[in-house]
Amino acid sequence: MYRIGVIGLGKIAQDQHLPVIAASDAFTLVAVSSQRGLSVPGARSFRDHAALLAETPDLDAVAICTPPQVRHAIARDALAAGKHVMLEKPPAATLSALSDLTVAAARRGRVLMTTWHSQYNAAVDAARERLAGETVTRLFIEWKEDVRKWHPGQAWIWQAGGFGVFDPGINALSIASKIMPRPLLIEQASLLVPANAESPIAAELRFAGPGDLTAVFDWRQQGGEVWDITVETASGHRLVLSGGGSRLTIDGVETVAEAPREYQGIYRHFAALLDAGTSHVDARPFELVADAFLLGRRTSTAAFHD
Ligand code: NAP
Repeated sequence: MYRIGVIGLGKIAQDQHLPVIAASDAFTLVAVSSQRGLSVPGARSFRDHAALLAETPDLDAVAICTPPQVRHAIARDALAAGKHVMLEKPPAATLSALSDLTVAAARRGRVLMTTWHSQYNAAVDAARERLAGETVTRLFIEWKEDVRKWHPGQAWIWQAGGFGVFDPGINALSIASKIMPRPLLIEQASLLVPANAESPIAAELRFAGPGDLTAVFDWRQQGGEVWDITVETASGHRLVLSGGGSRLTIDGVETVAEAPREYQGIYRHFAALLDAGTSHVDARPFELVADAFLLGRRTSTAAFHD
C-alpha cells in the first residue's frame, strides 16, 4: 500500500479523491492538509502542506487538490521532500511551471503525474480507437455549464491563473487531444471577459485545418449542461461523445455508456506509475489553453456576480 497525503480538501478532494482512496487497495490515506482545518478520520491533519511534509516523513506521495495558482510551489516542496506527486488538473498555472516540475521530478527520481480526469472514460478510449487512421472533416466541441451551479463561491476561477471557463473547457481539450488522429493547433480564439474578472466567462476556438474544427465554451448556460464533442470523418461516420466523455454514439447508435469512474482510473494509473517508477506528464491540453490565451482576442462583457 502506498501511503498518500491529500493537500487541499475542497470540492474535488471531498467528492472524488478521499472516497476513491478510501476504497483503494493500493493507497492508504495517512495525512491531509487543509487551510480551513478540515480533517479526515484516521489521517493526521495539518494546516499547511509544509507541516504535512515535515511531520509525515514516511509518506510516499501527495495528491495536490488546491487551485492551480499555488500548485507549483506545493509540488516543488513535495518533490524536494522526496514525495511522488499527483497534480490535479490543470497541472500548474503556467507551462514553464509544469516544465520545471517535470525536470525536478526526473532529477529527484520521483513520479510526477498530470491528471486529466475526463480522459479516464471507456467511451473516450473507444472514440480514440475508432478515429485512428481516419481523416477528420469536422470537430465541434460544445462545453456549456452554469458557473453558479458548478463553481459557487470559487473566487480563484475568476482570477489570473484560474483559467475561467477553461477550467471546465480544458477537460474537453483533454478528451479532444486524446481522440484526434492528428495534433490540434489553435488558429483563432476569442475570449469574453467580465468587466470585474481576470479570466473569461466564455470562449470560442478555431483549430487549424484541414477540416472545420471548432470549440465553444460558455459558463452562462441555463437549463442543464452540455458537454459534447462531435467528430465527423471523411469516410462518412459521425461520432458523438456526450456527458463529458461518458457516452459514445457512432452513426446514431450508442456504443458505450458507462457511469463515470474517472478517479478510480486515475488512482489505478498512479499506482501503476509508482510500481514502475515512471512519470506521466501530458501537457497537450494545457498547451492548447495557453495558446488560446496567447492568440485570444479579448472582449469585455457585463460584470459577473456569483
Ligand atoms: P475548491 O472547492 O475551491 O477547493 C480548493 C481547495 O484548495 C480549497 O477548498 C482549500 O482547501 C484549498 N486552497 C484554496 N486556496 C489555497 C491556497 N492559496 N493554498 C493552499 N490551499 C488552498 O476547488 P475544487 O473545485 O476542489 O478544484 C480544485 C482543483 O481541482 C482545480 O484545479 C479544479 O480545476 C480541479 N478539479 C475540480 C473538479 C470539480 O468538480 N470541482 C473536478 C476535477 C478537477 P482547504 O481549506 O481544505 O485547504
